[in-house]
Amino acid sequence: MTRDVWLARHPYLQPVADVHALVEAMAAGVAVPTAPIPDWDHYASDFHAGVPLLQSSKVAFDFAAVETAVYSLIREVASASLPEPLATSCRDLVAELETTDLRAPVHPGLLCYLGWAVLARYLAPVVGAFDAWRNEERWLRNYCPTCGELPAMAQLVGKDPGRLRKLSCGRCRTRWRYRRTGCPFCDSQDEHRLAVVSVEHEAGLRIDYCDVCSGYLKTYDGEGSESVLLADWTSLHLDMIARDRGLKRLAVSLYDLDAR
Ligand SMILES: [Zn+2]
Ligand SMILES: [Zn+2]
Repeated sequence: MTRDVWLARHPYLQPVADVHALVEAMAAGVAVPTAPIPDWDHYASDFHAGVPLLQSSKVAFDFAAVETAVYSLIREVASASLPEPLATSCRDLVAELETTDLRAPVHPGLLCYLGWAVLARYLAPVVGAFDAWRNEERWLRNYCPTCGELPAMAQLVGKDPGRLRKLSCGRCRTRWRYRRTGCPFCDSQDEHRLAVVSVEHEAGLRIDYCDVCSGYLKTYDGEGSESVLLADWTSLHLDMIARDRGLKRLAVSLYDLDAR
């Protein structure tokens, strides 16, 4: 599955695809520093205790340098031609940058989206090195080992009997292993099966949900199209289907730009 084929089948995603492409292109043009690869031996005890990398006191990242890059991106995006109400929201953010710091922004959803567009780039080499170092058997937790967020999506990989479920972070793009069954939002050891909503003509995407907490997990039951199908924004229509059924998105959505 390619992005273009997906968009041809889901033309209503085109506006979000356009904004996403514009922001990614601008983020690529901003000078983003590269995060240093941590000393894994130093971090290992925190890892075994369940402390995500970004929350560990054993690892230091230079977020001041990232902040400068985020501010540059906000200014760039605000000067681009954008649809409303995004254009106004971006100008509001720039106005805020000039008067105050962004501790209580008027558009936290938009700030979070633009912030992670930069942070994901800053962290990309670390996410890759962490994947190579991490023993997945020693994590198996319901939150992202890199940034601590709950999973935006899941993927079933491999063939039975060795089939695995991987969770995927909507913020930093880390993918990690979790138990094959059970709900990652209640995280009970109860292995109750999630119920499934199949969505027709969706190339292996479905919605798994929990009767106990009403949390849902968009799940890609396949391999080979991760870059398109695990991107989160490409399945925003599944979030709407889930919401219409009274289910709750318990992970942050970077595309909830009106979030307050
Ligand atoms: Zn993460
Ligand atoms: Zn649950």
